[in-house]
Amino acid sequence: MLSLENTYAKLPEAFFEKINPEPVKKAELVKINYDLIDELGLDKKFFKSKEAVEILAGNKILASSEPIAQAYAGHQFGHFVPQLGDGRAVLLGEFIDKSGARRDMQLKGSGQTRFSRAGDGRAAIGPMLREYIISEALHHLGIPSTRSLSIVKTGEKVYRERPLDGAILCRVASSHIRVGTFEYFVARGDNESLKTLTDYVIDRHYLEIEKDENKYFNLIKAVAEKQASLVSKWMNFGFIHGVMNTDNMSISGESIDFGPCAFMNFYNPATVFSSIDHYGRYAYANQGHIAKWNINCFASTLLNLLAPDENTAKNLVMEAIEFFQDKFAKSLRTGILEKLGLKEDSDENRKLLLQLFELMEMERADFTLSFRYLSDICEELAQNPKLEEAKSKKKFCDLFENDEQAQNWLQNWSSELDLNQAEAISQSMSKVNPLFIARNHNVEKAIEHARRENDFSEFEKLISILSKPYEKQNNYIDYSLPPESKEENYQTFCGT
Ligand code: AMP
Ligand code: MG
Repeated sequence: MLSLENTYAKLPEAFFEKINPEPVKKAELVKINYDLIDELGLDKKFFKSKEAVEILAGNKILASSEPIAQAYAGHQFGHFVPQLGDGRAVLLGEFIDKSGARRDMQLKGSGQTRFSRAGDGRAAIGPMLREYIISEALHHLGIPSTRSLSIVKTGEKVYRERPLDGAILCRVASSHIRVGTFEYFVARGDNESLKTLTDYVIDRHYLEIEKDENKYFNLIKAVAEKQASLVSKWMNFGFIHGVMNTDNMSISGESIDFGPCAFMNFYNPATVFSSIDHYGRYAYANQGHIAKWNINCFASTLLNLLAPDENTAKNLVMEAIEFFQDKFAKSLRTGILEKLGLKEDSDENRKLLLQLFELMEMERADFTLSFRYLSDICEELAQNPKLEEAKSKKKFCDLFENDEQAQNWLQNWSSELDLNQAEAISQSMSKVNPLFIARNHNVEKAIEHARRENDFSEFEKLISILSKPYEKQNNYIDYSLPPESKEENYQTFCGT
């Protein structure tokens, strides 16, 4: 059985619209995540039932569920929109997972709500498969993310440029509270609701600061720290979220909303995949800057709670932004040094790191494999410390046309490695340098097979490969490779 709680639905009415999902014509389960069901401690038997499929399609409502569409606002590409909200999603309720953590269960693509504006409230199968692949891939890489529990086809068409099969994704998240949720109440001058929301968030996500005298300031710092860690992880894995609007930034610090996101193959800091991001606002290398911008938005919503006088409050906001900046820079650098197997944040190591990035950029070397092959070299050095005899050296150098520069860099890098501890270093490198990421050409192939031919075998295969991104999986080595052409003209789309 499944029993839900509804703490968010118990908040004042201004927070949501009470609304049931719109029933669909014919619910057909196309994917269910039993591993996640086990991990959460949910009842597997129940999720194998016909009733569960009807619930995951929104055709049936559990007695314990009080479905709602959540209200939020947001800065989209820098412009404030005072009302967004769940225009095509419904929160079914919450449950406590096996580890004792409260989780949201939400249906996405579940029909129109008060917040739909001109939208149809529905989702097409392609983007839901995409969210499933990417969110699960991030999770298995060790990056906090909302999770995907199931996908059902609706038996109905959704109309975009052409008719497409409709689908509903069931998403599990620590919560769906966003920076934009705070902005929603500020836009309305509703200070009471803002305080209620803030206290709810502290209680639900940051209980450790509840008793602090300056708990509102500490909340900003806690959220800033979570985001600094998250965004630096994205960048250290070559991930580009693509639409870091404040309504897509989760207060809990999970990756959320996977419209135009994608992993970069060949290193270029200016990489943008989103078809609507004309000025590169959300480009790969701009993500730290944007996260800071978003944290500023978040901190500014709490001005009235921070201090009785405006100047003191504004100074605290500035302090929080600096705190973010510092945490982000540190987290990004330590993450990369870890990927290189270098412990110390010394001048020498920073220089090595910068040189590698320059080289990768100049040659548009594959981001993921550059690091992975360094791991492989280190693994060999643990057995035999002679770099010139390491077989993986060629794999690494082949990523660069200018062999000589790559060789020189390798030489400098290996002389900085503590070879007495090569075994341990190689172990820790192999935990942060994946062999398999969700490469765009593989993701597209899997989605197209499923979408056009109703053949989910590629999708299943990709999900399985990406669930073990650090393992060698020699049979699937092709999936670790970038596309043949370095001319990346891959485009992703929002509003799906
Ligand atoms: P997103 O770009 O997915 O972050 O969505 C931005 C806003 O548009 C949110 O308020 C969504 O609920 C809303 N939205 C996106 N697609 C639809 C749709 N098909 N129908 C209604 N609302 C939508
Ligand atoms: Mg969104």
